[in-house]
Amino acid sequence: MQATLKVYRHDPDAGGKPTFQPYPLELPEDATVLDGLVKIREELDGTLAFRASCNRGFCGECTLRINRGGRLACMTRVASARTKEGEVTVEPIRNVRVLKDLVYDVDQLLWQKIKAVEPWLQPTVSQPEREHVLSDEQLRPVRNAMKCYYCGLCDEGCSVIPFDNTFLGPAALTKAYRFVSDPRDGARAHRLRAIGEPRGMWDCVHCFEADEHCPRGIGPTHRIMDLRDAAVGMGIKSGTRNPQVARHYDSFAASVKASGWLDEGRLALETWGVRRIFDLLPVAWRALRRGKLPTPYRHPKRPGAERISRIFEKVERRSP
Ligand code: SF4
Repeated sequence: MQATLKVYRHDPDAGGKPTFQPYPLELPEDATVLDGLVKIREELDGTLAFRASCNRGFCGECTLRINRGGRLACMTRVASARTKEGEVTVEPIRNVRVLKDLVYDVDQLLWQKIKAVEPWLQPTVSQPEREHVLSDEQLRPVRNAMKCYYCGLCDEGCSVIPFDNTFLGPAALTKAYRFVSDPRDGARAHRLRAIGEPRGMWDCVHCFEADEHCPRGIGPTHRIMDLRDAAVGMGIKSGTRNPQVARHYDSFAASVKASGWLDEGRLALETWGVRRIFDLLPVAWRALRRGKLPTPYRHPKRPGAERISRIFEKVERRSP
């Protein structure tokens, strides 16, 4: 099989601009992109830098952007990836600091964030010696999160990280979920408070790109939702530095309870308060010009609002 791998080349230490270097190759029909990169390095250009390890889709080391999509190079066949012209573009994933060619700073992308969520079990202090036998059912969520092999594809697809690289991101939050869902862990409230601060779980915009990208089927976006549910269940509706999250949560529920649907004007006002609401005026003006803000602003009760209100009352009676 003939294919041309167009490979991103850049050495920031040497200066200059990044280029895509074409490497025409003769490869077996079942060759993967990683096979192609190895062939280039061994036969054509020993200076090409890339990272790989298991070659079995197990370690998550060879995460790259292949034809503009995040993939594992060892699990991507050249035959299926190449264009009509027989080309495959290979470059580092987005939102990373490139060290050389296809090697990027994984410490910045993943490890520092994962370290921030304290990725170790903190047993209940009251009974540290006790053997803690768990059922299969209790361990299922933990095992699901433990399937993560830190490939970083969820962070690559994340909609928030391109705007704010300090956002913890779905990979680190999935790690946090692994411990929050572990019945042996005694630091649940502490963990939920920590990841509830700015740049944590409440900054996820639930675009579900992380779920789309995760090759292990862990569903990182859903795990972030689970973390939020767990926090709210423990009465932790925000961190100490983002109290507007709790106000947003309460206002959302109060609005739906009162009228059967969301009153966006009320939500903005109660979330941000009168002083901060002025910061939102440019957004409101743009929405008005595009016909997205009804004038005059009205928010009538929707049919069946009383029934919705009764559901709220029922749930509130059941809550501790
Ligand atoms: S959650 Fe999935 S996509 Fe994200 S790092 Fe883990 S395995 Fe990769």
